[in-house]
Amino acid sequence: MNRGQLLYEGKAKSVYLSDTPDELIVAFRDDITAFDGQKKDSLAGKGGYNARISAFFFTYLEEKGIPTHFMGMIDDHTMAVKRLNMIPLEVIVRNRAAGSIVRRYPFREGQTFDTPLIVMDYKDDSRHDPMINDDIIIALGLLSRDEIQHVRDLALAVNRHLKELFRARGLDLVDFKIEFGRFGDTILLGDEISMDSMRLWDVKTGASLDKDVYRYDKGDVLSAYAKVVDMMIPKEFGGVQ
Ligand code: 5GP
Repeated sequence: MNRGQLLYEGKAKSVYLSDTPDELIVAFRDDITAFDGQKKDSLAGKGGYNARISAFFFTYLEEKGIPTHFMGMIDDHTMAVKRLNMIPLEVIVRNRAAGSIVRRYPFREGQTFDTPLIVMDYKDDSRHDPMINDDIIIALGLLSRDEIQHVRDLALAVNRHLKELFRARGLDLVDFKIEFGRFGDTILLGDEISMDSMRLWDVKTGASLDKDVYRYDKGDVLSAYAKVVDMMIPKEFGGVQ
């Protein structure tokens, strides 16, 4: 598959056209950003870690019956995906309280929710991704009420499968953000699933192994990402060699 014209440049990924109109090429760059892009760095190898873990999770979730945009890896930081019409929502699933939910509401940091919470943010950096509700989503024409329910069901299924996978390796999935898009009449899981978009705590030590290491200067973020790849991806799938 040949890489065509640059279609879109995000904060950590570049999206290119391909030879086929309904397929795109996503290159994971080594850039890392936080706080709406106010903090920025480039860390050699970071893009590869996120691409490989995303590919691994997309493959695993497809096996579990969750439809995704993932088609295959082109090299260790580039993947081929179906071209989606992205829905500008960040669908956040929270198993424990951390981050913005603790700043905004009187939850205790680390508190476990009896039922996972789903929070949706409207994806727009210029508006700082404001939290959105069902009525606003419908009024903006982003999803119908039935589609909101479908997206919630998919997000909870992703949570169940990922949580179980992490737990078996001694990692606690605190929260994560996913994005969906339309492919014809179907809604597919798109974007990425990586340490940039989740909180993962080591069950034994409580240490963060995700972008919080970078956000809050908790240590060496690249080693944290490498550790997750090493713990999660079987060698035959292309883990850290
Ligand atoms: P919070 O709302 O606490 O900042 O984030 C909740 C979860 O969603 C965290 O795992 C965080 O990494 C992820 N998340 C929220 N907003 C974004 C975003 O704009 N980009 C990425 N990559 N992840 C996000």
